[in-house]
Amino acid sequence: MKCPFCGAEDTQVIDSRVSEEGDSIRRRRRCQVCAKRFTTYETAELRMPQIVKGNGQREDFSSAKLRTGFQRALHKRPVTTELVDAAITRIEQKLLALGEREVDSRRIGEMVMEELRKLDKVAYIRFASVYRSFSDVDDFRDAIREVRD
Ligand SMILES: [Zn+2]
Repeated sequence: MKCPFCGAEDTQVIDSRVSEEGDSIRRRRRCQVCAKRFTTYETAELRMPQIVKGNGQREDFSSAKLRTGFQRALHKRPVTTELVDAAITRIEQKLLALGEREVDSRRIGEMVMEELRKLDKVAYIRFASVYRSFSDVDDFRDAIREVRD
């Protein structure tokens, strides 16, 4: 790590410690050339991926949009907000765990379907029928069968 004062390449770590929260490491460094000291922090980079839509456009991930999707599917269904929140959190964690910079919106749609399937069968069918845009009765029958399994 370069010295921010004189630009020398060689700096020495004289102390490193983990932050109280345990989510970053603080290092004290000393420049070998000008002897000045400075501090650096190391943290994990956790960023939500960009969402790639069907038409190729990119947009920022939005948990509000995800929530709207759930609410639309769960309209008038007996599912608590806590359960929806937990489902959204699980999807967000899955997305972070992918560690990818871009994720296909289809993949998120599949994650939503997976959660809805566990939450409420009616909502699942509702979402799937729009999302997969069932073209015929067979598609619909397949979805119903998936729920029964
Ligand atoms: Zn220096």
